[in-house]
Amino acid sequence: MPSPVAHSLIGLSLGAAWLTPARMAIKEMPKIIWGLRRPLVLCIVAANAPDLDFLPGLLTGDLNAFHQGLTHTVPFVLAVAVVLRYVSRTWPKRRVAQWLFLIGASHLAADLLTVDTREPIGIMGLWPFSREYFTAPFSIFMPLQKQSWADLMRPYNWRVVSVELAWCLPLLLAVFAWKIKNSASLLTRRLPNNTE
Ligand SMILES: [Zn+2]
Repeated sequence: MPSPVAHSLIGLSLGAAWLTPARMAIKEMPKIIWGLRRPLVLCIVAANAPDLDFLPGLLTGDLNAFHQGLTHTVPFVLAVAVVLRYVSRTWPKRRVAQWLFLIGASHLAADLLTVDTREPIGIMGLWPFSREYFTAPFSIFMPLQKQSWADLMRPYNWRVVSVELAWCLPLLLAVFAWKIKNSASLLTRRLPNNTE
């Protein structure tokens, strides 16, 4: 699995693509994003929710003890989307549950695209309809070393996070660039009328 850094950036990118206006002037961006902070935080929560299965592992001293089990399934992601749908009644856009489901599903997709060295390989994403473990034919993320809290500070894990930033930050920047470009092209189309 990737770290919460990758999951959060992917969730934030999808949330920003959905929640921000189709066109944003660059100077309006900070104000718009600040105004959307609560729903964007819930997008980050949805993107990380499947990793709640680390919490019971804290009690056993092995963070992986219950990892990539029932919370890494499509029905769990759907349940989280429905719950978060009602946590905030102030969503600025429609199709809330659908987008939250997509953001939650991005967690499963990112996990599938991560090198998995721990048996059973992959995730049982379609449980209870299938007990088959799925994994992608290729990987773009490296796995975190996370047997214990001390492992999390290892230099290897900083390399893992660097790779994640290299993949995921461009995704977020691309979303903002797309919205700014839309805004600029609208301005260009309006200019001839303004000069008449
Ligand atoms: Zn996960």
